[in-house]
Amino acid sequence: MSFSNLGLCAPIQKALKEEGYTSPTPIQLQAIPVILSRKDILAGAQTGTGKTAGFTLPLLEILSQAKQTQNKPHVRALILTPTRELAAQVGDSVKTYGKYLTLKSSVIFGGVGINPQISTLRKGVDILTATPGRLLDLVSQKAVDLSRVEFLILDEADRMLDMGFIHDIKKVLAILPKSRQNLLFSATFSNEIKTLADGLLNNPTLIEVARRNETGGGIKQAIYMVDKNKKRDLLTHLIKKDNWTQVLVFTRTKHGANKLCDYLKDRGITAAAIHGNKSQGARTKALEDFKTNNIRVLVATDIAARGIDIDLLPHVINFELPNISEDYVHRIGRTGRAGNEGMAISLVCGEELEYLNSIQRLIKEKIKQITLEGYTSKQVYVEPEKPKRGQRRPQTRDQKIRQDRESRNNQGQNRSRDRDDGKKSRGESSRKRFR
Ligand code: AMP
Repeated sequence: MSFSNLGLCAPIQKALKEEGYTSPTPIQLQAIPVILSRKDILAGAQTGTGKTAGFTLPLLEILSQAKQTQNKPHVRALILTPTRELAAQVGDSVKTYGKYLTLKSSVIFGGVGINPQISTLRKGVDILTATPGRLLDLVSQKAVDLSRVEFLILDEADRMLDMGFIHDIKKVLAILPKSRQNLLFSATFSNEIKTLADGLLNNPTLIEVARRNETGGGIKQAIYMVDKNKKRDLLTHLIKKDNWTQVLVFTRTKHGANKLCDYLKDRGITAAAIHGNKSQGARTKALEDFKTNNIRVLVATDIAARGIDIDLLPHVINFELPNISEDYVHRIGRTGRAGNEGMAISLVCGEELEYLNSIQRLIKEKIKQITLEGYTSKQVYVEPEKPKRGQRRPQTRDQKIRQDRESRNNQGQNRSRDRDDGKKSRGESSRKRFR
């Protein structure tokens, strides 16, 4: 099956050819015809599956068929993303795939000056990609008119809810026209996502390409059991031993990311950290340096890494395991993208065994353990016994965290924990312990 069979116009096909795309990915095969038939979709697709083109291509096709006739276009498609990086990434894709069309697109997010965004919006755009906080700022300043939006796309909706954007999303929904096509993409389907989808989507077509919480097929996974104080040494050894040149390392905290980055630099490994306390300028530069191989290691927290899309990124390291198991799937999905091979390695110390258990339960897979003389601990990971029939499994840490988050969302207290508009949110301090 080729893109021409999907009913995409010649200018879009030309752009795809230049990108080297020869055939559609499974999510594209399923989503494009449904979107072109003007139906809502609820799509379960993890990152790396080609989901961005899955919604961008039909969107460009429909919008280019019915081009606006006025000189100044108005916003017809609104794409909401949880993070600045993802917004930039999606915005780039819209521009790339639509480069031979005359549609105008723009990206807005916080952490950078608002005035250039206001003047771009004044000139008019057809497709707007935005993070919720800055979008609402611009709406309140009457710099953007959303009254004629025909398409709403929520990308990585699960992450938006994780980040406490539900109230911002509701505010945006309240100002959009009632009649529109809605596309909801989420890597995972929690009860919260189902509630959001029920209220938003009109008789949606369900599209699921990879099983829920399944990890990408091209990713090899491994764990090293290692004492906490030996993790930095082991990481340095691994990077130097095989001369890894592009390694994305995840830490749980911003402070931890900075410390690890300094440690690596002291040992002659070029590195930069990317997290919510860094200015947008520093985040963009770090990402650019990493993409262009100016630095070997990018140390990131989960939120900041959300939009990182690098073709052929070979190595992802979990310096610490995430305490929310779904984050593991998102993290390792940074490698092995679009069918390429990738390696995801986790450095696990004794106190993280509970996280490891939750992750393995989620991905329904036992991750291979590697030992390395002089670095790894003698500890051999043993899976806990399954509860006997009739015996209840104790509530996992994941379940406790999710329950807590859902009740906060219900009480309307859960505001963003890493807002794109740079504002501190209510309840932020109480959530810090989860980062
Ligand atoms: P996404 O899941 O949207 O983040 O896309 C993951 C990666 O797959 C990106 O680097 C895209 O450029 C790439 N990609 C998307 N569609 C295709 C395709 N049909 N053929 C090859 N690569 C693709």
